[in-house]
Amino acid sequence: LFITFEGGEGAGKTSIIEEINEKLLEKGYQTIKTREPGGIKISEKIRDVILDRSHTEMDARTEALLYAAARRQHLAEKVIPKLEQGFIILCDRFIDSSLVYQGYARGLGIEDVYDINRFAIQDCMPDVTFLLDIPPEKGMERIQGNAEREQNRLDLEDLSFHKKVYEGYQLIADRFPERIRRIDAGQPFKQVLEASLKELDAYLR
Ligand code: C5P
Ligand code: MG
Repeated sequence: LFITFEGGEGAGKTSIIEEINEKLLEKGYQTIKTREPGGIKISEKIRDVILDRSHTEMDARTEALLYAAARRQHLAEKVIPKLEQGFIILCDRFIDSSLVYQGYARGLGIEDVYDINRFAIQDCMPDVTFLLDIPPEKGMERIQGNAEREQNRLDLEDLSFHKKVYEGYQLIADRFPERIRRIDAGQPFKQVLEASLKELDAYLR
């Protein structure tokens, strides 16, 4: 079972994954918690290149290709082998982030970005994707209060960029209604977790 978590900055993806992972382990499932870009050595290095705050000259297509490359390696080296061994994969971001951030918010075009990602992932799409849905203003407010969060190049973007990200996620959720489950992430954390676990239940049977 391949599960991905999506949403803008401050939606709470990392915290929800943490809690869902605990619950699955308690129930006796074997899980892998991972993230994109990253998750393995080569892809974490690519992540550093993409997100380095001094790389302000990064071209949007270069960025899109690097995300796709990091994704490919992470899938080939970790996700696919672990799925074959029966693990549940919980992945913080995946292809939808590229469709939304590079395809929509950066304006490269969702279809073009989907094309390079089809090449990268072949047919390995998630079984289900939780979209932690939160208005960009609220998400940004949350990350401002979180001192532990690592700084990255995206912090240089303004609210209008994050509003595009929000819009992009709505488009993508409408495009893949079978796969993408919207969760209202503006609720208190406990409720977000409950709603996610309830949706997840259907996939565990
Ligand atoms: O989710 P996380 O904070 O680890 O993501 C790192 C950064 O990369 C975020 O600021 C996110 O907005 C950005 N990102 C992006 N395009 C992607 C995936 C992540 O701009 N396809
Ligand atoms: Mg996070």
